[in-house]
Amino acid sequence: MRLRRCTYCESQVDVDAGPHIHDPKECQDCGDVLLASSFPRHPSSLDGRRHQCARCIRLARDVEAVQEHVLDQGERKRENDLLREHGYAWRIGKDRDLILLSPSGTWVDRSRALIEVGERSDEPQWVETHPLDEW
Ligand SMILES: [Zn+2]
Ligand SMILES: [Zn+2]
Repeated sequence: MRLRRCTYCESQVDVDAGPHIHDPKECQDCGDVLLASSFPRHPSSLDGRRHQCARCIRLARDVEAVQEHVLDQGERKRENDLLREHGYAWRIGKDRDLILLSPSGTWVDRSRALIEVGERSDEPQWVETHPLDEW
């Protein structure tokens, strides 16, 4: 038994017990939940993959897009955090695709889910006011 710490899930893993795979896996930069195949191979990490998705790594390499990249990732991460806070979860479907489940367990489109959480947020309701001359 050889123990190593997984830098992704922060747990001690017995390397001899077999592969330690995270699939699906959450990108540590943008917070997207993606299939393991979306993370470039990285032999020195315990699950054999980078913890940033290919998209984030590509963006990070594009020096001219650095500013845009930070904004884009921040926004995406905020959206993903919001969806999780509202009880949405990603699952692997039967065709090895990722599906987003609503808190009631039904399939929902990501953009649709974002609209739903927007509707549910505690934004102050616009209250209709009556002009004084009505009185
Ligand atoms: Zn792990
Ligand atoms: Zn990412």
